[in-house]
This record gives sequence, structure tokens and C-alpha cells, in this order.
Amino acid sequence: MKPTSNSAQHVDITTSLHPYTDARRHEEKGPLIIDRGEGIYVYDQSGKQYIEGLAGLWSVAVGFSQPRLRDAAAAQMDRLPYYHIFAHKAHEPSIRLAEKLVEMTPENLTRVFYTSSGSEANDTVVKMLWYMNNALGRPEKKKFIARTKGYHGITVASGSLTGLPGNHRDFDLPAIPVRHVTCPHYYRFAEAGESEADFTARLLKEIEDVILEEGADTIAGFIGEPLMAAGGVMPPPAGYWPGVEALCRKYDIKLIADEVINGFGRLGSSFGSVHYGFTPDIMVTSKQLTSSYMPLAAIIFSEEIYDAIADNTHKIGTFGHGYTASGHPVATAVALENLAIIEEQDLMGNAARMGEVMQKALAQYADHPLVGEVRGAGLIAGLELVADKASKRPFDPIGKVGTAAFEFGHDEGLILRNVGDTLALCPPLIITEEQVHEIVARLGRVLDLTA
Ligand code: PLP
Repeated sequence: MKPTSNSAQHVDITTSLHPYTDARRHEEKGPLIIDRGEGIYVYDQSGKQYIEGLAGLWSVAVGFSQPRLRDAAAAQMDRLPYYHIFAHKAHEPSIRLAEKLVEMTPENLTRVFYTSSGSEANDTVVKMLWYMNNALGRPEKKKFIARTKGYHGITVASGSLTGLPGNHRDFDLPAIPVRHVTCPHYYRFAEAGESEADFTARLLKEIEDVILEEGADTIAGFIGEPLMAAGGVMPPPAGYWPGVEALCRKYDIKLIADEVINGFGRLGSSFGSVHYGFTPDIMVTSKQLTSSYMPLAAIIFSEEIYDAIADNTHKIGTFGHGYTASGHPVATAVALENLAIIEEQDLMGNAARMGEVMQKALAQYADHPLVGEVRGAGLIAGLELVADKASKRPFDPIGKVGTAAFEFGHDEGLILRNVGDTLALCPPLIITEEQVHEIVARLGRVLDLTA
């Protein structure tokens, strides 16, 4: 249908297919058009203010009006708006950002590869490990282990690693060899009477059984978000990650920390893997890397992986992988400035301090009749709604939590998101104590409207 009016609403519903949207419902409802941002707030075209309780898509660390990022982008646009880093070319911003990322991440991570999105980054990780294992003469070592409810993106390979039915259904995924093991969420997946330690031990045994069943010599990597975010904001049970790390070392499986949401202070620590005490071979970062002012992702990985790939590129003549926008100069310049702001303003420390305030304040809703569990770490939290607290019967299968997040949230001037039956909060890292309490108060009103 060609547009018959030039109102933005009409043009949108007649010309677009939106990501993650019920297209027919969108035609009826139309978009909420966000017009401008300021600090933790965004404003729609009528001027109504909303607290952005999800920092956009879990990503805007420095808020929606940071002039230093605009200036960094403008300066780079003036100097060199685009250049690539293929075939022995380079430019200063991508070099300096790689230097910075190697400095910020654990000692063993020494090399950086750039993409524009988390999905492309995880696709690249799959291809890097396939390439590496071919180069090392072990072409059978190609499978991945991931978790149900894990989120790693939506391209063919990364969407296969993702463990959410909505990303597989009718897309013919998974399309690469992957085994999804149990989601490490104690509240939902522990058996009756099982202690947290026993739950962890059972899940680790399940992983080891999968490795033995498939054969360690067929498994390339284990991928997980340190704290699972988009699948429902689920922190791992104690001891889970050190246990996974030990299994990966025992069976020579590369451990991939998908830090696309966790990275750069979200949990109040530099990285989620640091927070939970394990050291990956590969770290995938994006989102808060640029506060999403520009699209960028960075894979930071070990010298051992680099060496295997590098030796092979020398043999073959090139590493046949890379994107037109890999290491884009404006995106990498913005990332450098964004990381400088995170450091100068101690936003990771703020996330730890404000995170404690937020988690403590949210705990009051644990007694709310609709709330099954309040959970999170640092400045990320989830409230899982249930129909019955004692049996944990899921809240409702027909989307009322979505109504709570969108309609009631919008009425209260709070942008929330529901991930399944869980209401998620993930505000910008610049948030103040007063603003934390404001979010929590608005969320309380949303819960009352939902009841
Ligand atoms: N990995 C994780 C942990 C994510 O949360 C996301 C996006 O939310 C992705 C990967 C995919 O990133 P993108 O949407 O930039 O492709």
C-alpha cells in the first residue's frame, strides 16, 4: 500500500516492517514516535516525557544527550568520515579503541575484531572458531553449546545460538550444530527441594554429559551471557560460571562470554565475567561500547586463537571475513569518547552504588501478589509476574505483561520492556538516587494497574 497521507504515523504503518513487532497490530495501533532525548528521559512528538527504563535497548550508558559523543562524531566526520580496515589499511580511532579494549579486559584477551552489531559479532565468533579448528587440522570440532533462553542475536548463526523459541519458530533455526542446555535460573528450573548448590551441580553434570555424548573433539565453543538478559534477566546460581570454565578447560572447548549487555559496568563491575569470576577465551561486546550512539561491536580474544587464524591466513593468503563497516572510524571514535566518559564519571562505580539502591528498593515488590521473583545485579533487574505465587504458575500466556510494560508503563511515563512474563529494568548508568526511586515508584503503579 502506498501512503495516502504524509503524517509520520500513516507513513510508518504503510511503509515499514518493524523489528520485533506484531505487524498487523502495529497497523492498528501505530508507532509511539520518540522525538528527542535528555539524560535518562526521552520525549514523544506531543512533548510527553518518559523515563527510559531500559536505556533504549539495554545500551545507552551515558544518557540520551551527551554532547561529547556528538562532538567526537562531528570531529571524526570532518577529518575522515569513512575508511575501511581491509587489506593492510588502518585508521587511528580503530587502532586506539583496540588498544583501549585490550587494556580494559582480562590479561589473556589481546586481539580485537570489529563488526557493527552483536549478531554479526557472534556470527563472526562461530566462523572464527570453525576457521581456527580447520586450520588446526581438527575439522570435526565445530559444534556449540548454548543455553535455553540465552540471547545471542538473530543472524543465521547467532540466531541458532539464541535459545528462545520466538527466534527459531518459522525461521528454520537452529541452522548450525548447537546443543542448548538448561537455563541456569534457580527460581524457574530448580527441582522441588533442590538447593542452589545441587542445582548448579546438576546443570554442570548436564553440560559434561552433553560433551561426552557428542564427543569433546566435536565441540568448538560454549557461549553464554554472564547474566542472561533478554531471555528474562536471570543471574546465574553461585558456582555456575567457575564450573563451566573448568569443564571448558578440561575438554579444550573455547569459552565465549557474550557481554553485549553485561559489558562496561552494567552489573556494577567492568564485565559480567569479572563479576562472576571467570575468564573467557573470547569476549563479545557492543551496546554500551558506544552507548549505541553509533552501531559497533568488538570481539576481544586470546593470542592463541589469533595465532591459529593468523598462521592460516598466511598460508591461504587472506582471512576471508570482514564487513564494510568493520572498525568504522566514526563509530570507533565515539566508542573511545564514550569509554572515556564512563571512566571519568566513574559510571561503573555509579552502577554499583545505584544498583544496590535499585535492587534494595525493588525488593519491596517481592510481596506483591503478582510478583513471583525480583532479581538482578547492578543496574539490571527483572520482576517475574506469576498467576499464583505458591505454584509459580506463569502469569498469563496472552500478553498481559506486554500490556503492563507498554500501555500502563507509557501511561506512567516509564518505558519498560517485558521479556516473557518478566518486566525488565536496565536504566542508563548515569542515573541518580532520586531517579532510581522515581522509577521504582512508577513501576509500583504499573503493577497495581496490572493486578
Ligand atoms: N548478544 C546479546 C547478549 C544481546 O543482548 C544482543 C542484543 O540484545 C545481541 C547479542 C545481538 O545484538 P544486536 O541486536 O546488536 O545484533
